[in-house]
Amino acid sequence: MISLEVRVARRLTQLPPYLFVEIDRKKREAAARGVDIINLGIGDPDLPTPEPIIQALEAGASRSANHRYPDSEGLGSFRRACAEWYARRFGVTLDPEREVLTLIGAKEGIGHLPLALVDPGDVVLIPDPAYPVYQAGTVFAGGEPYFLPLRRENGFLPDLEAIPEAVLRRAKLIFANYPNNPTGAVAPREFYPRLVEFAARHGIIVAQDNTYSEIAYDGYRPPSFLEVPGAKEVGIEFHSLSKTFNMTGWRIGFVVGHAGVVDALRRVKSNLDSGAFNAVQEAGITALANAEAIAARNSAIYQERRDLLIAGLRSVGLSVESPRATFYVWPTVPEGYTSASFVSLLIEQTGIVCTPGNGFGRQGEGYVRFALTAGRDRLRVAVERMKGALERQA
Ligand SMILES: *Cc1c(COP(=O)(O)O)cnc(C)c1O
Repeated sequence: MISLEVRVARRLTQLPPYLFVEIDRKKREAAARGVDIINLGIGDPDLPTPEPIIQALEAGASRSANHRYPDSEGLGSFRRACAEWYARRFGVTLDPEREVLTLIGAKEGIGHLPLALVDPGDVVLIPDPAYPVYQAGTVFAGGEPYFLPLRRENGFLPDLEAIPEAVLRRAKLIFANYPNNPTGAVAPREFYPRLVEFAARHGIIVAQDNTYSEIAYDGYRPPSFLEVPGAKEVGIEFHSLSKTFNMTGWRIGFVVGHAGVVDALRRVKSNLDSGAFNAVQEAGITALANAEAIAARNSAIYQERRDLLIAGLRSVGLSVESPRATFYVWPTVPEGYTSASFVSLLIEQTGIVCTPGNGFGRQGEGYVRFALTAGRDRLRVAVERMKGALERQA
């Protein structure tokens, strides 16, 4: 039989290579040489899912009603639990029927959103650096990304007033993400009102990604974009149970806000997937009911790790701010290195895996991202090894 040569669709070739594939290869090479790997590369909690959530899944998995296709909008009971949590946590009122939609992880909803809103030729405003899925979803829908540089001197906030008029006229959608991956930045109080005003003025839909709202430090409580009056009229907010509850493998998240946008995304999903396993949604109800206690426990653990790693990075001469939320640390690379060359040095000489900043966009060049997904003992070892490697280079 002749094996056809596959010429993939242009939309695939338009994407930057998915970053973690390349890092994975280097990691495997180092591991094959016998190097002990300390993986701070991917934002995937090392802590287990809390026991009550697992028990809820076990109970739900035994119920035969749950073995059938789920509804594409999600279980009513899960959507009500999302709305109750929003009321409790943010003081935001949501109609669980029209303003809440279950997702198979936030990534699924983010990736599909442009299919619901964006026509070829429409512009999507995307932060740079950013979670890569904003760009991928845009390109898959035939939209045109326009990148908004996030710079340290601006607190890693986009300069909305610097966007050219011609771009604004074609812009359909803007992504925001605070607390921010990869920079660890948080949105100051005045940012969301500004974003709502900007969106209303230019007729641009806001998609704010609040995946890290529950991982925060020093008493800081990240707000919801929907707390701002008028926000629900211009946009939506994504949430994930992945990072908050150590459930990345379970694939469960949700989106809330503007009923028309939520419905448009539901229509895309009803044609492409058949929703999240009902038993996982039932486990999600248990997670949300215990959100405060679980989030406090996780954040306390990450905060100790943060303090240890920040002190360690500074002691080896890296310039870094201490994040108030997220489990990411975003230092600039030492003098004489690029993001890529510093990541290579670390993998090859220390076994530490981190992510090159430029993998999140051009503005990420000169930074690397460490995820706080290893225990303090391992982080101490990481800092010691880094010190050794940098001294050998000097
Ligand atoms: C991890 C992450 C997501 C995806 O979360 P899932 O619910 O696991 O799909 C979305 N946005 C950001 C910024 C993330 O870091």
